[in-house]
Amino acid sequence: MQIESKISAIQNILDKKRSEGSIGFVPTMGALHNGHLSLIKESVKENSYTVASVFVNPTQFNDKSDLDRYPRDLDKDCEMLESAGCDLVFAPDAQEMYPEPDNRSFDFGLLETVMEGKHRPGHFNGVGQVVSKFFDYVKPDKAYFGLKDFQQLAIIKKLVSDFNYPVEIVSCAIIRENDGLAMSSRNMLLEQNKRNEAPIIYKTLIDVVKWSSVHSLSEITQKVVGKFISNPELELEYFEIVDDVSLQSLSELSEGVGVTACIAVHAGKIRLIDNIQIKL
Ligand code: AMP
Repeated sequence: MQIESKISAIQNILDKKRSEGSIGFVPTMGALHNGHLSLIKESVKENSYTVASVFVNPTQFNDKSDLDRYPRDLDKDCEMLESAGCDLVFAPDAQEMYPEPDNRSFDFGLLETVMEGKHRPGHFNGVGQVVSKFFDYVKPDKAYFGLKDFQQLAIIKKLVSDFNYPVEIVSCAIIRENDGLAMSSRNMLLEQNKRNEAPIIYKTLIDVVKWSSVHSLSEITQKVVGKFISNPELELEYFEIVDDVSLQSLSELSEGVGVTACIAVHAGKIRLIDNIQIKL
């Protein structure tokens, strides 16, 4: 496995590899866990060459303290990437990615007005900036994204279709800890008492699926709010049941073809998100 920090270096390597077969790409912000590795393994299975990026992208952080405390351990990340079969790691610094301030402004329409877009202003613009740069530099045939970031996937698909990037977006299942908590680089920052309570997030989503066959959406929402109100460690930021394509909130389950329940919770300073498909 090669590790490079310069755009010109990866371009040289990839120009040669491109003629030998397909290139799979997995963008990450490092502090890797098995969720990330599942994306790498999927790419290794489907492509002749797999590239991962490790870059904590400053432009997608709307909260400076979240950026400052974001965990970083490139050596450990590289060990994990190599064990999963990754061929090339692109680990640039911010100067390499943003030699000039990036003033581009993306319009993701209604997709960015809800949930993460509403609660993290500017976040998806930063995601658009960094992912479009990566696609320009790596020119992957396929790029792998986790359903853990359900809204981000919809945003990336719109980016690809708006700018005609010749890349196939592959969505990958959410990988969880044994107790159900969705794996996240931020989990290691949780205080112990909050970590102990955090599996309630997924348990609630499982209940939501059960409730969806007998209760109305407003009753389900009330039940979810009720579960968190009594918990001193977790604060519910939003709970939404949305149409899979438009990401807009539904008022009745029957309205949507594909329906997903999405949740964001504050566990002290750490923000956790998760989601579950209710209806295909
Ligand atoms: P991040 O490093 O958090 O930016 O994540 C990089 C990629 O890994 C994104 O496509 C995420 O959706 C994906 N990812 C993060 N956590 C998980 C997980 N628990 N299961 C599956 N994919 C994940």
